[in-house]
Amino acid sequence: MAEGKDLHLEGVTKRFGSFVAVDDLTLSVPEGSFFALLGPSGCGKTTTLRMVAGLEDPTLGRVLIGDEDVTSLRPYKRPVNTVFQSYALFPHLSIFENIAFGLRRRGVADYQAKAHDMIELVQLEGYGDRKPAQLSGGQQQRVALGRALINEPGVLLLDEPLGTLDLKLRRQMQIELKRIQTEVGITFVHVTHDQEEAMTMADTIAVMNHGVIEQMGAPSELYENPSTTFVANFLGQSNLIRSDVVDSAGDDVLIDCNGQKVAIESSRSHVDGRSAWLGIRPEKIFASEPGTVQQNGHNRLTGGRVTDVSFVGVSTQYLVAMPWGQELMVFEQNTGRRPPLDNGAEVDLTWSGAHAFLLDAHQDATAGMMTPEDAE
Ligand code: ATP
Repeated sequence: MAEGKDLHLEGVTKRFGSFVAVDDLTLSVPEGSFFALLGPSGCGKTTTLRMVAGLEDPTLGRVLIGDEDVTSLRPYKRPVNTVFQSYALFPHLSIFENIAFGLRRRGVADYQAKAHDMIELVQLEGYGDRKPAQLSGGQQQRVALGRALINEPGVLLLDEPLGTLDLKLRRQMQIELKRIQTEVGITFVHVTHDQEEAMTMADTIAVMNHGVIEQMGAPSELYENPSTTFVANFLGQSNLIRSDVVDSAGDDVLIDCNGQKVAIESSRSHVDGRSAWLGIRPEKIFASEPGTVQQNGHNRLTGGRVTDVSFVGVSTQYLVAMPWGQELMVFEQNTGRRPPLDNGAEVDLTWSGAHAFLLDAHQDATAGMMTPEDAE
């Protein structure tokens, strides 16, 4: 992809009084990519988006699109359009007129043909004559998207655009948005606090916390090899077990996990010192009868006892109490290959050394966990 219109933020900081909402943010979004800024409420993601749109002035730093420094350009002078959570459609105009609005204002001659193409792209054929109030939420959001895309912006900013839709429609629109982005090839920068939404759509996710980026990468990279406890907990669920690094052997780091020895690939260790959190995703752990044969390259923790069995349809979720008093989560797909384990069963836990990660123990093990307010 050409570097012509990559979006760059260079040392961008935003202070409101003495409060630092965005702290020295530097990042590049390649032209044509789908980029998500993901983080909990108040982490600074909307402020970042508003600085790209020109709706907020950075206290420090620069915003560039390609080689052009747009930091002091007014919003309408920037090659940027924004789709907000509230659709902000013109209620008295038809869907066709809403979508054609930007082109007509700029006096584009073939606006009719272009608006028809756009109506097709956002799959609203047959709705052109209706007024916004006669459409569902998802359809109105498509109009908002079409109205922004028709201006062919260098960058399209999406601020929680699916936030008001119900869950099922939101999932449909995620797939839809991804299809449209691939088709038009415009850079999308999408702000959300919904990890599944970011993972479904984005090529690259930047996880934001307290005004800084904790980690940036492809969704699977962040999920499989998180480098902080915040990312490990905010993207999915993690078991974090206090452990000590004791040695290294070849490409492996050797770990003492409450008196039991395990190993992990050194590329998955994000620890400088000795104290660590050993992180394992619940679906990567296999619980089995004590003493069953261990596969090559697998680690084993013994002495577990099942304390809860929850059948959730696609999987069965276990809680397993370990000898050091911690309960670990273990998820198993319901393939039907073996009967579920009984509550109270004695088990060993095994997992591949290529499937765990090691984090610095100075971090809060509960950082990034969902609170009841987040789950609203
Ligand atoms: P949400 O998902 O809730 O919108 P967010 O991650 O988008 O959260 P921002 O809206 O960027 O967060 O806000 C970041 C922080 O800056 C918040 O603590 C917010 O209260 C503060 N903030 C935002 N705008 C202003 C303002 N105009 N004046 C003072 N503080 C502000």
